[in-house]
Amino acid sequence: TKLRVGLLFGGCSGEHEVSLNSAKAIATALTKGQNTDKYELMPIYIQKDGRWQPTDFSQQVLESGNLPSSKLTDDNSDTETTSSLASQSSSNLWQTPPQAAQVDVWFPVLHGPNGEDGTIQGLLKLMQVPFVGSGVLGSAMGMDKIAMKMAFAQAGLPQVKYQAVTRSQIWSNPCVFPKLCDDIEAALGYPCFVKPANLGSSVGIAKVRSRAELETALDNAASYDRRIIVEAGVEARELECAVLGNDVPKASVVGEITFDSDFYDYETKYTEGKADLFIPARVSEAITAQIQEMATQAFLAVDAAGLARVDFFYVEKTGEIFINEINTMPGFTATSMYPMLWKASGIPFDELVDCLIQLALERHSK
Ligand code: ADP
Ligand code: MG
Ligand code: MG
Repeated sequence: TKLRVGLLFGGCSGEHEVSLNSAKAIATALTKGQNTDKYELMPIYIQKDGRWQPTDFSQQVLESGNLPSSKLTDDNSDTETTSSLASQSSSNLWQTPPQAAQVDVWFPVLHGPNGEDGTIQGLLKLMQVPFVGSGVLGSAMGMDKIAMKMAFAQAGLPQVKYQAVTRSQIWSNPCVFPKLCDDIEAALGYPCFVKPANLGSSVGIAKVRSRAELETALDNAASYDRRIIVEAGVEARELECAVLGNDVPKASVVGEITFDSDFYDYETKYTEGKADLFIPARVSEAITAQIQEMATQAFLAVDAAGLARVDFFYVEKTGEIFINEINTMPGFTATSMYPMLWKASGIPFDELVDCLIQLALERHSK
């Protein structure tokens, strides 16, 4: 009998559309070649408003090129698809469709908050059904840039200087704010990067070069998250390494991303032709080996599982390597860095998807 794979996609996050594209690629991989005999695809679409949709509707979403208008499960509701989770009054937002009870293994292809941060993972854990990727702890640690950096520091991984800031320091007390900015300037200098701690795809991130820009960026970042991080800016090449496995994770070949924009922002990430991938990265074997070693260390440091993409800054002038971040549910289209790195390392896309499901089963049975 075939294993029923609950492909969870969409979700309440700014990366909803990215998730849709990743899910399409994974759905295709599950319904061709060797995988057809092993797996039965059960797509489950999570709308932007948080509602879970049954498989027939979800399949249509996967097949159609564009986003559906919101399918409402309540009467007389005029909720828009873009409404936030918090604005929903219903307490059964994540009420699962009937097919969910038949799922043998979940594949949550959700990026960002509510998907990559441990919340969905907690729900799936409560269901007592295996799922692909990191558990609650690994997902939460990998999502929060402050927690992630603390774990990396503990593991001895080199990072840029940073300062953690809270929303209340920025908003609630006008006397604290100037001092906070003074401290940041003194500790980190310019340029520095202001980031909401729990986001992805560069959403809410600003590169700032002056006091005025710093103040604006902090205020803006506080509108996204209670937790904010400010980092010293480095001028560096951006290298990425894919990790696959559970307790004994393996690192892929290393890739590089190049672009002309000021930094790797949302537009550069998702506009065709704005960024180029080089696989393998044009760096020495010694640098490659260091990055691979650091990538698996980072994976273990946050207790990741299944998959993760670990991103680095390489300062060519000095030879320094800094770890930037880990992403526990990296972009997963056929042309995304994560599957491309494994393809170059000898694991084609369909096999990678199969491997991830097997890792989920292995982890669950332990
Ligand atoms: P996200 O999780 O949204 O991808 P990142 O922390 O990776 O956030 O930052 C997005 C991009 O911003 C990076 O890929 C890089 O181009 C730039 N960036 C972030 N932090 C720094 C830094 N400290 N120095 C230089 N560039 C940075
Ligand atoms: Mg990220
Ligand atoms: Mg990043």
